Amino acid sequence: MRDPMKGRLDGTVALVTGASSGIGAATALALAAEGAAVALAARRTDRMEELAAGIRERGGTALVLEADVTDEPQATAAVERTVRELGRLDTLVNNAGVMLLGPVEDAPLEEWRRMVDVNALGLLYCARAALPHLLRAASERPRRVADMVNVSSVLGRVPRKGAAVYNLAKHGVVAFSDALRQEVSERHIRVSVIEPGAVATELSSHTRPEVREAMQPFTFALPMEPEDIADAVVYIVTRPWRMAVNEMLIRPTEMV
Ligand code: NDP
Repeated sequence: MRDPMKGRLDGTVALVTGASSGIGAATALALAAEGAAVALAARRTDRMEELAAGIRERGGTALVLEADVTDEPQATAAVERTVRELGRLDTLVNNAGVMLLGPVEDAPLEEWRRMVDVNALGLLYCARAALPHLLRAASERPRRVADMVNVSSVLGRVPRKGAAVYNLAKHGVVAFSDALRQEVSERHIRVSVIEPGAVATELSSHTRPEVREAMQPFTFALPMEPEDIADAVVYIVTRPWRMAVNEMLIRPTEMV
């Protein structure tokens, strides 16, 4: 897990939500490869145990936390267990999310509730619980900085028909991130927001099949890979303490 170029996050601890698949799993792996001890939070523990085993095999430290981030006590407990078992918290990657596309007309309310619960409220619960720990980490030398990276979407910048409630939640993530950034930047917390376009993950598989077929909303020749976004997270959290990447909009090359 180490080579001479790596280890830029040695001694730090990161919590990644939605670490059981896709972008979250790739991000946890990438942060561990840089030397961070990583806490993995999601509902599917079998997936996370497998990922954790791979990280440990390569000499890293990984903690698996079963947590539904829409349940505030579980979200808070995931943060508290990270700090209790790994000693501190330098980086929170608020990545857990769901995208259930479809027109507003006659949409199942349950889908709207899930999207707001996971993408917005779940992120807020984790952010709130993590903040005191991030502030503590940011006050310490030699790093003097801590990071919260919130995963929004291109659809958090650009509304599209068929994505109205996902748009609502992800635009909210962008707005929240910048408002929070202004509250904590002087205390050396960097709040960053990443807005990916299409990435090859399980995300779109949760949209109802009839909607997927009818909309075919995002067809690209080549989507990005989860590792591409993980790279962006690593870039953000390895900047010198004086530099903060506030926002990163990342599209597949062929995406219009
Ligand atoms: P995946 O579906 O592969 O991953 C989503 C992750 O979120 C899973 O690990 C899932 O874990 C977790 N999750 C869902 N609900 C909950 C919950 N209630 N509590 C805890 N964890 C939960 O998709 P991606 O990797 O693509 O998605 C990651 C993020 O990237 C999301 O926020 C998504 O909106 C965003 N994004 C993705 C894009 C893409 O094209 N793929 C584009 C733009 C943004 P589990 O089910 O085990 O709980």
